[in-house]
Amino acid sequence: MKLTCIGRYGPYPRAGGSCSCYLLRYNGKNVVIDMGCGSLTKLLGLLRAADIDTLVLSHLHADHMGDVLTLRYALDASKKMGQRQQPLTVYLPAQPETESSLISAHGMIDAHTITDDMTANICGMDVTFSLMPHAVPSFAMKFCADGKTFVYSGDTKENDKLAPFAYGADLLLMEAAYLSRDKTPGAPHVDAIEAGRIALDAQVKRMLVTHIFPEYNENDILNEVRESFPSAKLIEETQVYEV
Ligand SMILES: [Zn+2]
Ligand SMILES: [Zn+2]
Repeated sequence: MKLTCIGRYGPYPRAGGSCSCYLLRYNGKNVVIDMGCGSLTKLLGLLRAADIDTLVLSHLHADHMGDVLTLRYALDASKKMGQRQQPLTVYLPAQPETESSLISAHGMIDAHTITDDMTANICGMDVTFSLMPHAVPSFAMKFCADGKTFVYSGDTKENDKLAPFAYGADLLLMEAAYLSRDKTPGAPHVDAIEAGRIALDAQVKRMLVTHIFPEYNENDILNEVRESFPSAKLIEETQVYEV
């Protein structure tokens, strides 16, 4: 599996950057994970809309799905141009319904609802989903292929489910939306100290940090994550990571 970072910011992008979006390539197939605002223009620098095999959406906040609304037009165009006849397979939560119906009802989208503990074979990879606590239903996801495991946290509050779900993963892509000083009780995300602790508890081999708040100094985020997981790095846009 090869992971390319298309976008890593949330809940809005840094100028010239993109919100959450990752391209997972396996066996010649292109699986896109999340498509936040700013991602489509960057994604189209790497492949045509017709070349996306499957899209997986962790949850339906705009910083994870906003550009799917525009992707619908690109899919329509790829049909007209004869580049793609089959609808795009999209895995997504059923809620919130307003957002899910905007995606599911489109003629060039073949929607599959994600549920807790669901498993699926996606482009030859064994995938498991796990519901995380967030402001809306949000799913962590685990991709297994060729004896390697890649886990993406999606958006989540601190919880006891994620570490066992990610246990021993070769790569954990983990959100760290806040610095600890900015976290308020009941906030819908982990802070960077909690993100590092989850990676430590999960004993993952490698950790990349994402969901970067664009106004933060990146070193401040890393310093907090590294209190528990010293080898953590921030994921970098356009960079490719071998799992
Ligand atoms: Zn987010
Ligand atoms: Zn969110």
